[in-house]
Amino acid sequence: MTLRAQVRVRCQRCLKPMAIELAPQSAFEWVSTEAELDASDGDDQWDSVLAPDLFDLLPLLEDELLLAVPYAALHPSCNPAGASEAGEKFSPFTALAGLKVSK
Ligand SMILES: [Zn+2]
Repeated sequence: MTLRAQVRVRCQRCLKPMAIELAPQSAFEWVSTEAELDASDGDDQWDSVLAPDLFDLLPLLEDELLLAVPYAALHPSCNPAGASEAGEKFSPFTALAGLKVSK
């Protein structure tokens, strides 16, 4: 499976939005019983997915895309947030604030 998506994230240096391309590739093996799932443990070629009947593919696609998002996306070249504002020093806590997710 190859997914392609463009997502907008926040640059962890300048805290401005940026678009990144995701193209995760994964291989899956569908198994229908727990025994088959156990037997396939340790196979690095692909991930085994227990799907005894109908299988909802969307959560799997979402997981693959979420795992592909870099932990700390950065522009190739930019200045730390607040660097241009006089009297305000860059703080790592400012970058952490950018990681906050409202629920
Ligand atoms: Zn940046």
